[in-house]
Amino acid sequence: MPDSSPSRLADLPTPSLVVERSVFDSNLATMDAMLPGPRLRPHAKAFKSTSIAARLHADGHTGFCCATPREVEGLVAAGLTDDLLLANESLDVARLGALSDDAQITVAVDSDITLDAAIAGGVRSILVDVDVGLPRCGCDVADAGRLADKARASGLEVRGVMGYEGHLMMVTDTAKQAALVEASMATLLQAAEAVGGDIVSGGGTGTCITNTWCTEIQAGSYMLLDTDYAKQQLPFEISLNILATVISVSPKGWIVADAGLKSHGMDHGNPTWEHGDVFIMSDEHVTLQPHTLSDWSVGDRIRLLPAHVDPTVAKHEAMWLVDGDDVVDRWAVDLRHW
Ligand code: PLP
Ligand code: MN
Repeated sequence: MPDSSPSRLADLPTPSLVVERSVFDSNLATMDAMLPGPRLRPHAKAFKSTSIAARLHADGHTGFCCATPREVEGLVAAGLTDDLLLANESLDVARLGALSDDAQITVAVDSDITLDAAIAGGVRSILVDVDVGLPRCGCDVADAGRLADKARASGLEVRGVMGYEGHLMMVTDTAKQAALVEASMATLLQAAEAVGGDIVSGGGTGTCITNTWCTEIQAGSYMLLDTDYAKQQLPFEISLNILATVISVSPKGWIVADAGLKSHGMDHGNPTWEHGDVFIMSDEHVTLQPHTLSDWSVGDRIRLLPAHVDPTVAKHEAMWLVDGDDVVDRWAVDLRHW
């Protein structure tokens, strides 16, 4: 941690991202026991920090998923070069081809055009991304073998398939989710037959228990978590929260703190506050209705629990690791932007 960094929670600037060390460590240990080593390919988009990536690497999870070429570049610069997967389509992949002497880089393709970009850009290996039911990227299962053949004919290594069943992450009934994941992954396994290679990559935090079909699971949210995922039957707890300062108290029954929607990813709704209700989010303010107004004064610190971890983290320059009242580390969110 830089020498000038605050060592006490009370001295952190607000709004700040705070990570509870004991909860974070326990989430990592739980996942490690379920999906050791290469069974987990952590998704860097959730934490966007090479400090966290280095910790996961030391724990044996040496391969990573990335959502952007920038995340791949940042992990290469940090020396985490073993096995980086751009688990997303991009035409901007020549910048990754240029790094392929330094790192093992694989990109997902789902069309002739994305495959042509990989070939022209000097990318050396691909996964064929298959549509497994989420209305997003992925080729039709019937086209997967043809793309793989074309890639091999152009000298690329075809490492296998990926298919992200994102539409099933929030199915709360475990038995129902397991049946839906099985059907979704049957499509991916059918594609894997046609494509060849060793890798069948898919899954996420929400399906890390029910997806027993992939060779590796692409989870990222589990270590920090959010209130949306906390509603699921998952063995993880929220370690991330937003520290804010009370800047105004109204006798009409509300208090205002300095963490608004510019410090929260809001697409899954308002953050949660354990001492009352979140009333209004505006740019740099959160208006809260406490259970007991008289408990609160200007200058007090509060903690808010974000509803969606990935876009929340991406709004901040750093996360502060805390243990009780002590700040024990500063993790730069250095994989932000594009
Ligand atoms: N894989 C891909 C391609 C994703 O886009 C995501 C999240 O959106 C995930 C895996 C899983 O992430 P999470 O841990 O948030 O469920
Ligand atoms: Mn997300």
